[in-house]
Amino acid sequence: MNRYLPYGRQKVDIRDIYEVVKVLKSNYLTQGPVVTDFERAICKEVLSIHGIAVNSATSGLHIACKALGLEKGDYLWTTPITFVASANCGLYCGANIDFVDIDIKTGLMSIEKLEVKLKEAEKSGKLPKIVIPVHLCGTSCDMKKIKKLAQIYQFKIVEDASHAIGGKYNTKPVGSCEYSDACVFSFHPVKIITTGEGGIVTTNDDKLAANLRMLRSHGITKNREDFIEEDEGPWNYEQQYLGYNYRMTDIQAALGLSQLKKLKKIVDKRNNLLEIYKTILPKGNIDMIEIPYGVKSSVHLAIIKLKVENEKEHRNIFQKMLEKGIGVQLHYKPVHLQPFYKNRGFKRGDFENAEEYGRRAMSLPLFPELTMKDLLRVKGSLIESMEGIKSHI
Ligand SMILES: *Cc1c(COP(=O)(O)O)cnc(C)c1O
Repeated sequence: MNRYLPYGRQKVDIRDIYEVVKVLKSNYLTQGPVVTDFERAICKEVLSIHGIAVNSATSGLHIACKALGLEKGDYLWTTPITFVASANCGLYCGANIDFVDIDIKTGLMSIEKLEVKLKEAEKSGKLPKIVIPVHLCGTSCDMKKIKKLAQIYQFKIVEDASHAIGGKYNTKPVGSCEYSDACVFSFHPVKIITTGEGGIVTTNDDKLAANLRMLRSHGITKNREDFIEEDEGPWNYEQQYLGYNYRMTDIQAALGLSQLKKLKKIVDKRNNLLEIYKTILPKGNIDMIEIPYGVKSSVHLAIIKLKVENEKEHRNIFQKMLEKGIGVQLHYKPVHLQPFYKNRGFKRGDFENAEEYGRRAMSLPLFPELTMKDLLRVKGSLIESMEGIKSHI
């Protein structure tokens, strides 16, 4: 029996383990000096001024929205082809959520649809306060164009770069925030590098960064210059508003720092594996999703689109792949079709491209330790699973 191939898998080596054990033997387990080192290392890597490490990207998205002033009555827009957290973060703040349909070729938020929707929203007085573009697969959205629209329609931009550490847009690393207010990375084990659970928010805005640091830790500051009241002494700290406990631990940061050293290697390897898939997979009845010119993807996922007639054929192929031990996944079922969002008024037909994508997309296994033999096995399994399916599109 062949081994099960998941769609993604972390790689933790002996050096990672050594670094984590070192922290376990040190004075700090929770947020301490290693978290600060990790934040600095990320800033250096992505060319941002600030980095605020948190216990997940979900937490990072939440406090980014909060720090940018998102509240009840406001609108937050994101794409339906994402993990639910990109939308949920707006609801945590009491805001309304809406979606912008995707570009069917790239799977990313469509700039044309965004522009049309903004024009309509301006007329009805429902312009978004925040737009969250999602760099699906680690492929950056067209940030320059989104920024231009942000200047016209006065919204803030939070990049959901959960997939995208190590990726580039034009010449700058994703996370540099050249065209956004803040950028959020995830270090969940299926992502590019991991801290177990964890994430980070990057920004170049000093005030926003200070705000994020407080929100991650109960709304408390220990920074004497920032005190509202007279300082009572060195033991003093102030809670100035309601925050959360979203801190990362030094244990996690040690793993992250060690993993970060391998980032370039991991991203190169992922790009190579995708190139091999592109060469060996049968072209007649599948398409690869496209990476736009000028973007270096971190290739978090290898997404193909099956040329199938309907959802049933799509599901059958999934079933057959899983039976062969190939852990294919759908990234993502359109968020507006989740029962929770349907209860909030969204329905089938709202975002056609996203729904077509949801009927055709399939993520193939992609992680650094895959061998040529594995890739050929995936290819063989795909051909067998698609037998009898004619190319319909
Ligand atoms: C994984 C993921 C998240 C959530 O990340 P966590 O660190 O697990 O909270 C958010 N958005 C996208 C697009 C993701 O893939």
